[in-house]
Amino acid sequence: MTSEHLTGQRPSDDQQPEWPDAGRLREVTGRLAAAPPLVFPAECEALRARLAAVARGEALLLQGGDCAETFASATEESVGGKLRTLLQMAVVLAHGASLPVVKVGRMAGQFAKPRSRPFEERDGVRLPSYRGDAVNEPGFSARERTPDPARMLRMYETASTTLNLVRALTAGGFADLARVHEWNRAFVAGASDGRRYERLAGEIQRALAFLRACGGDTRATATAEFHVSHEALLLDYERPLTRTDPETGRTYGTSGHLLWVGERTRRPDGPHIDYAAGVRNPVAVKLGPGVAADTVLRYVDRLDPDREPGRLTFVVRMGAERVRERLAPLVEKVGAEGALVCWVCDPMHGNTFVAPSGHKTRHFDAIADEVRGFMEVHRSLGTHPGGVHLELTGGDVTECLGGSAGVDVDTLPRRYETACDPRLNHSQALDLAFLIAEWYRS
Ligand code: PEP
Ligand code: MN
Repeated sequence: MTSEHLTGQRPSDDQQPEWPDAGRLREVTGRLAAAPPLVFPAECEALRARLAAVARGEALLLQGGDCAETFASATEESVGGKLRTLLQMAVVLAHGASLPVVKVGRMAGQFAKPRSRPFEERDGVRLPSYRGDAVNEPGFSARERTPDPARMLRMYETASTTLNLVRALTAGGFADLARVHEWNRAFVAGASDGRRYERLAGEIQRALAFLRACGGDTRATATAEFHVSHEALLLDYERPLTRTDPETGRTYGTSGHLLWVGERTRRPDGPHIDYAAGVRNPVAVKLGPGVAADTVLRYVDRLDPDREPGRLTFVVRMGAERVRERLAPLVEKVGAEGALVCWVCDPMHGNTFVAPSGHKTRHFDAIADEVRGFMEVHRSLGTHPGGVHLELTGGDVTECLGGSAGVDVDTLPRRYETACDPRLNHSQALDLAFLIAEWYRS
């Protein structure tokens, strides 16, 4: 055990459900092991190459989507809305930073959630906590909360449907730069303080006109490239979908391109880090405010022993108040080890609080401030702020406070729809992209 664990700051259990029926579990994992891969080795390698550019300071990563996907939300409207939001943000960021943006969804696999308590008690009734649609249902009854391994088959099918939508939409002109820019213009025209963004939007407009004048094609394939990611939490799902490529002898997790280990399960000698160490995919680890520098170096040794840029991403989620003080020593120590990792800011998970109405929420200003602090730290060290990892949706939900959507504590309940943590809505996500774009260029 590390001292970090002895201090009790990070109570780390492995967050696996207690399946009630071992026979049924075996049958399900057997079916998953026989099912076709959802993603392919060449795609994972392509993403590694893109992330290597992020690590070298030649690109940005934009990673985002729901906190928890649900089976019911795998619709064309919901998936298309998230994709559209990410593509819009990517155009704004690419222009602001003058760098290509690597787009990765928290999609097609984000169905399992770690919980702070294994049980939930209401009026003297104690039931297992909801662990995401992959495991059980949110309703508070014994039937709904009992983990059901068959739900992992639905997870696989829903991930497959989602990937099909993503592949079709990105291949089918949805990602045309000119079209994405038109969406952005509509946002700028409609946003309450949209005028702030008019200058940047106008510059993008002129850049597109210039591109066309030079004979360029706004349907450039780079625009359409999109990958998927999720927290590799549920090992009974991940392991059977892990395959060795007969051509190269390399092993890949085929449930998603980029797989990450969450803040609660990143015990250096635990099963999740062990799983990540065994696959060739690009992998990420979330780093909360309590992480010790020694622990971070253990991740580097374990997950990136060959020091290959693009292999390892650290997703930092310290909170706006702590990032400026805690991040710098970690970046310096990792650099001193000779590792070129991607440093990415998750400004969501360190800034959550409960509103008087009982809704879990986050304020846009704290989210923006954490990104700003993250960028300041990198600027002062001369290292690259590699991008952002966000919880967002394409809809008009009211889950996070502030932004040009003007959500306040009274309007929170209006469209509070998340299955887990509060997400930026479409316009808050674009607000943030325009802000970050301005910071990258300044
Ligand atoms: C999440 O990304 O939804 C999450 C649970 O984050 P973390 O592991 O950083 O707490
Ligand atoms: Mn979350």
